[in-house]
Amino acid sequence: MEKADLRQRISEIARILLPLWPNEKPLIHSSSCFELLCAVILSAQCTDDQVNAVTPALFSAYADPRAMALADVEDVERLIRSVGFFHTKARHLVLSARKIMTEYGGKVPSKMEELLSLPGVGRKTANLVISSCFGAPGIIVDTHVSRLVYRLGLHDNRDPAAIEKKIRENLQKSRFTAFSHALNRQGKYICRARNPACLSDPSSCPLEKLCPRRGL
Ligand code: SF4
Repeated sequence: MEKADLRQRISEIARILLPLWPNEKPLIHSSSCFELLCAVILSAQCTDDQVNAVTPALFSAYADPRAMALADVEDVERLIRSVGFFHTKARHLVLSARKIMTEYGGKVPSKMEELLSLPGVGRKTANLVISSCFGAPGIIVDTHVSRLVYRLGLHDNRDPAAIEKKIRENLQKSRFTAFSHALNRQGKYICRARNPACLSDPSSCPLEKLCPRRGL
């Protein structure tokens, strides 16, 4: 697709989706930057509901980086064992908290490179923290976003880094965060992985006229 066409297509998708999905807050529950960071680390290969089910007990036991840094990894594992890869994630939570305490003065860092230096933190997590906690534009490419972008023909594969780059090059920076959350909701609730809404009723998808995979 020509660059100008792609830019226009992304702009049209944003024009349709942003009013439909105006909530720019993550669906994952948290009440601080540290909680958000932990919740998103837990969310890899898991649903938001699975994460939201374990975080109240986790955050009650370890409310801040100081408490988490002192935690026993096995105790953290016991609290999160219903989420996938809980051994690795428990280790990442404790090691990230320790690094936040030793290198960032006990506060979740605000820069991309700093966030990426924390164990278990990739670009999706970093962009979500940067946008939700620090108000900077963030392109958050999760599984719903990458699936939707691929189905819409905006990119020819589902590689999150490449999709982030493509959106960054073709959308105004001020719309990065809102567009990410709108794509996330559209993918989660309409363009579902196994049963996209257009299979039963094309008119139930607001993007049906733009979508090359409508009804497929
Ligand atoms: S038309 Fe179907 S495949 Fe295309 S975005 Fe809508 S639900 Fe997804």
